[in-house]
Amino acid sequence: MSIHSRPKKSLGQNFLHDANVIQKIIRAFDAQPTENVLEIGPGRGALTSMLMEQLPHLTAVELDNELSAMLQITYGDKLTLLHQDILSVDLRAIAAERGKKLRVIGNIPYNITSPILFHVIDTRDAVKDFMVMMQTEVAQRLVAKPRTKDYGILSIFAQYYAAPRLLFGVSRNSFYPIPAVTSAVVTLNFDSPYSPAAENDVLFRTIVRGTFGKRRKTIRNGLKSLNVPPDVLDTLSINLEQRPEELTVADFVLLSNQLLSVASLITPVTTNEDNV
Ligand code: SAM
Repeated sequence: MSIHSRPKKSLGQNFLHDANVIQKIIRAFDAQPTENVLEIGPGRGALTSMLMEQLPHLTAVELDNELSAMLQITYGDKLTLLHQDILSVDLRAIAAERGKKLRVIGNIPYNITSPILFHVIDTRDAVKDFMVMMQTEVAQRLVAKPRTKDYGILSIFAQYYAAPRLLFGVSRNSFYPIPAVTSAVVTLNFDSPYSPAAENDVLFRTIVRGTFGKRRKTIRNGLKSLNVPPDVLDTLSINLEQRPEELTVADFVLLSNQLLSVASLITPVTTNEDNV
């Protein structure tokens, strides 16, 4: 595809041009002709053109006017191009239309990495897996272990809802224009969530967000500020003097299950996904 409009910073446009990296991603993704694949932000088609060689049909979501038009002209009926903001796309509807869970792939705009991750996580029943290029720093947070500086809300949610794997790093020089940060390819497998799941998903999220919101405070203080009554705190089996970054996913699941009876008292936490 020959499109050479100026890359738009506002749309996070850093186009992949390194053929080895493109091939490595496509090989790792391993799309099968019968699969229902969705690409986020196809841009100038670096991944798209190779996916098109493997698939009879692809759905893609691209916000850029010019690139959307060019992609549609280039690929015709083989490509269902949604000229939209990915955050407003109903992934469940696309899965339902083709009667198959989605496999999602994308070298996405880094400024909206967290909102995109949560958009996919929130429709995970319609998504099999997600292979995504992101800033190395964020990738390391997704796979971080407890008691490390990278471990936080994003680590817990990624490891709870999917099984994140950091596949490989990608040099800044593989993109045009060259971004300020290095990148990494991560895959999230929604068919392998943490098990057993928390009994109340909303409560689980509230406990994770609420305690990490007070990262330097102990779990006891975090729970107090969420309105958990003192007599209930005494019944919990977790050591409440720990800091949130010391708790594993299993600890958070246990904690949230032990707080089920007082769920209605707990203050909802509405953190903007961008700040995670
Ligand atoms: N996939 C291409 C590649 O690897 O060269 C382009 C990657 S570029 C980092 C991100 C792409 O996402 C751009 O094409 C940009 O226009 C598109 N984009 C930005 N914001 C978007 C949004 N909210 N929804 C859908 N696409 C978006």
